[in-house]
Parts: sequence; structure tokens; C-alpha cells
Amino acid sequence: MDKFDVCIAGAGVVGLAIAYQLSKSARYANASIVLLEREPSFGQITSSRNSEVIHAGIYYATDSLKANLCVAGKKLLYDHLQKFELPHRKLGKLIVAQKTEEEALEAVKEKAHENGVTDLCWIDTHQLRKLEPEVRGHAALLSPSTGIIDSHSYMQNLLNLAESQGVIFASRSEVIAVHQEPKSFLINTVLTHTHGLEPYDFHCTEFINCAGLNAQELALKTEGMNPKYVPRLHLCKGDYFSYSGGSPFSHLIYPMPEANHIGLGIHSTIDIAGQLRFGPDTEFVDNQSYTIDAGKSNRFVNSIKRYFPTVDPAKLHPSYAGIRPKIVGPEDDAGDFQIQDSSIHGIKGLVQLFGMESPALTASLAIGEYVIDQMNREARR
Ligand SMILES: Cc1cc2nc3c(=O)[nH]c(=O)nc-3n(C[C@H](O)[C@H](O)[C@H](O)COP(=O)(O)OP(=O)(O)OC[C@H]3O[C@@H](n4cnc5c(N)ncnc54)[C@H](O)[C@@H]3O)c2cc1C
Repeated sequence: MDKFDVCIAGAGVVGLAIAYQLSKSARYANASIVLLEREPSFGQITSSRNSEVIHAGIYYATDSLKANLCVAGKKLLYDHLQKFELPHRKLGKLIVAQKTEEEALEAVKEKAHENGVTDLCWIDTHQLRKLEPEVRGHAALLSPSTGIIDSHSYMQNLLNLAESQGVIFASRSEVIAVHQEPKSFLINTVLTHTHGLEPYDFHCTEFINCAGLNAQELALKTEGMNPKYVPRLHLCKGDYFSYSGGSPFSHLIYPMPEANHIGLGIHSTIDIAGQLRFGPDTEFVDNQSYTIDAGKSNRFVNSIKRYFPTVDPAKLHPSYAGIRPKIVGPEDDAGDFQIQDSSIHGIKGLVQLFGMESPALTASLAIGEYVIDQMNREARR
């Protein structure tokens, strides 16, 4: 039976970043690493259904993993994108407050400062008009370090680098169960071929669960994993509408974030090709369906009108949707990433990642470093 040192389940941006960081880390220089993905290719689920924004790290609870890994990850990501000449733009973002929201905007600035985001500039109505003539607001915060990324090019680059350093990538390979054996795991997978399904089992010493929306399901199929450490999954869908014609904005435009920070409000982003889109909204759902309700268009228009009064409803078109793998419900406070090693669940060699919602794209390289630190610490215990 084949044996690998490390198996990573899930080749979204998080699994890819971990594979890349592992492949270049000293302790794993000669390790055999396999990255398994159940879809026909990498990054086809949440990692290709998001806003593709490089977040500054403004809103998250201070000292949370989201705040720390976003701020650290943003720097690693910009350096990486520059080094490998990958498509991205540091456009800057404006968080626009209306008259009654000025105090809340000040609180956003303070929170950002506590998180180490010290470059936000206060913009008054007059300056806002100059920066963005189409935008209406009482005041705004300019975040110069926020940007946009072509997530597919980034993921392809991570995969190329990881493979060039020996990582084996297998798509159409679903992990269906993880068994504990003395000093290793027995992994059961199913490979999908054109002629049908084939079971394939192997051993590995360390196993990393980065299965995104399926992380909980896979954790519960891991022998010895106490279900009390598996947080409940709450699916929170976000729909996007594209806006035809050229973008009237030169920055990313955000309203004030939603209560409990469930979402960041229906904002405008521009993709690398210059296409303007609005979204995502927030809707807790029961299943993983990506169908967009075109009837939401009125609700979008009403939200957008607050900061972009001349929005033309005829230019809005249903575009795509993503689903946040939240581990908190609509009534709860904003949750954090959960990256569990044996100090939590008691199983040596196992790392489980839950609740990897935004800003995990921005934070991906820092998440990779964090997981490797955990694995190195565990090896020393
Ligand atoms: C609407 C929305 C907007 C967002 N906007 C931003 C943003 O602007 N900036 C930002 O930083 N972040 C953003 N995010 C967050 C970001 O997209 C995600 O945090 C990130 O893509 C998560 O990556 P992942 O690898 O954990 O998950 P995924 O991309 O879902 O990858 C998990 C992979 O595991 C595979 N898999 C599942 N089960 C198995 C199995 N049993 N065996 C093998 N493979 C398996 C899946 O097929 C999938 O490819 C947004 C998210 C959403 C939903």
C-alpha cells in the first residue's frame, strides 16, 4: 500500500497554499506530500465564487485568527503576487458612511488600528466627491492597501510551484474516510474515472482536512474525532449581480458592514478584467445551491442607491453566487477560523480547518505558515 508523509484533502486556495508552504518549508523538504481534490480541477468551489478582494484586515475581532492572518497574509500575498508577476491591482477601497453612521465609521477606524491596519484615511464629503463623483456619503474611510486579485491565476501558480517541489496533485479523488492506525492514518478514497469509480487506500503520517464546505462531513468520518470538536456548519449564501458598461468608480466601494459582521454589505468590486459587480448579499440557506434569484434585483438596487443614487436597474444582471462555510448562525457574533491540532481534538498528526470563510483567500499564505507552525510544534511535543 502507498505511504505518504502528508495528505491534504481539498485543493481550494487554502489547501493549495498549505501544499505550497509545506513544499518549501525546511522540515518537509524531502517529505512526500499528496493533495487530493474531489472535483475535476482545483479551486472550483468557494475559491472561485468570491469577491477576489485582497482585504486589509479592518473589521475582524482584535487578536482573532481572522485579524492576525489577514494582516500577515495580505503582506505575504502582495509580495508573492509581485514576485511571480501575477495579476492584481491595489485599487484601494472606500467605506462610505451616511449621516447617521459617522460614529460607527469612527469605530471601524479604531478597530482597524487595533488590528494593525494603520493606513486608513478619513475622507469628508467634499473629498469623497472629488475621489468618486458618483458616490454619495457623509464621510468615508479610504483603505489604500485593499486590492483585487485574479484568484484563478494565483491558485494555478500555487499548484505549479507546489508540483515543481514534488507535491503530487490528484483531482477526481475524494477522501471518504480516515482511520487511525499506530503512527499513521489509513485514508480511504474514491477516484472517479471515465469508466467508473475506483477505491484507493493509502497510509499517511499527517492528514490535513481543508475540505471547505465539506470539512465538517469529513471530520465526522475521521475515526476517533470527537464530534464535540466539530463546529456546526451554517451555509450563508452570497449572490452577485454584474453591472454592464464601464465602471463609474475607480475604487472598491463598500457601505458600512452589516450588523454582527455577517457580511460586509452589498459592495461594488471590479474584477481584473474591469467588470463591475455588486454583492454579495447574505442569506442563510439549507443546501448548496448556487442558483441566483433574479427577483433580488430590487433589493440590490435599494441597497446600492444609498451610496450610488444614479444606479441604473436595467444594467444589473444576475451573475454568480458563493456560499460561506460559517460556523456561527445569524444571531451569533462573528465567528473566527478554527484551525485545530491535537492540542484541541487529541489526535496526533491531524489538522482540521473549519469556518474558512472570508478573508481566507487574502490570508491563505499566512494560513499555510500557521498550519506548518502547528505541525512543527506538534513534532516537538
Ligand atoms: C461570497 C463570498 C465572498 C468572498 N470574498 C472574499 C474576498 O473578497 N476575499 C477573501 O479573502 N476571501 C473571500 N471569501 C472567502 C474565500 O473565498 C474562502 O475563504 C476560500 O476560498 C476558502 O478556501 P478553501 O480552500 O477553504 O475552500 P474551497 O475553495 O471550498 O476548497 C475546498 C475544496 O475541498 C474539496 N473537497 C471537499 N470535500 C472533499 C473530500 N472529501 N475529498 C477531497 N476534496 C474535497 C472541494 O471540492 C473544494 O475544492 C469569500 C467567500 C464567499 C463565499
